[in-house]
Amino acid sequence: MSEMIFLGTGALDWNLAMKNEGFFRRNSSCLIDKKLLIDPGAHIFSFIEDFNVPDLFDELTDIIVTHFHSDHINKESVLRLAENRKLRVGCDKRTMEHIGEHPNITYTLFKPYIEYNVGDMIVTPLLANHDIVADGENFAFNYYIETKDGKSIFYGLDSAWILRPTWEYLKKKKFDAFVFDCTVGDKDDWRLFEHNTIPMIRKMVEEINAKELMKDGGKLIASHMARTLHKSHEDTAEILEKINMITAFDGMKVLL
Ligand SMILES: [Zn+2]
Ligand SMILES: [Zn+2]
Repeated sequence: MSEMIFLGTGALDWNLAMKNEGFFRRNSSCLIDKKLLIDPGAHIFSFIEDFNVPDLFDELTDIIVTHFHSDHINKESVLRLAENRKLRVGCDKRTMEHIGEHPNITYTLFKPYIEYNVGDMIVTPLLANHDIVADGENFAFNYYIETKDGKSIFYGLDSAWILRPTWEYLKKKKFDAFVFDCTVGDKDDWRLFEHNTIPMIRKMVEEINAKELMKDGGKLIASHMARTLHKSHEDTAEILEKINMITAFDGMKVLL
């Protein structure tokens, strides 16, 4: 069995000052099997305090970073995590240079479509349709992750339409969890050039279902919802339920 904990499910437009104003999302982040943290953003320690889970990172060994945007990588968060543990960090070059050298951190510079052993998991960075930098060193990644227990996870934040080479990779796999960027919601907005709208997700899910890519009981999940582009969480959940998709919320635990 594997476990995903969603520490944050929001886009950049959420901030901690809004925490007491009703429904709240932190910047997107996800912890897998307590050992692998995807995107150490600025809000991860707020999660620990608010959910009263001081030992959440006790087993953490690895961090992987999707891309160099401030809602996904926060240098102070990484340095705080590295204070009392050894950490391996997989990321692109600009993220590595931003965090800098640290006696407790070792880096793996990720290249797309190469499998890496990350702790007891296998992680393949895939090109995201987001903040493309065509210099061969700096990337935005989606991730394909195989856990120790053989569970298959796609984590597609941040991204618009799945890029063709990424789809070619994904369509050969079967998934226990498939996490879509759902930044834009049900309206059109210029951000659809680097994030998904719900209509875009509907089309991609049709193709996933046509190719039977989800395992029995496999979970389609939406995350990275923008505060300003969505209806209420309940309304979004109702809309996405029609395509059998779970709308993530902070603190959501998914067992695979
Ligand atoms: Zn983002
Ligand atoms: Zn981004």
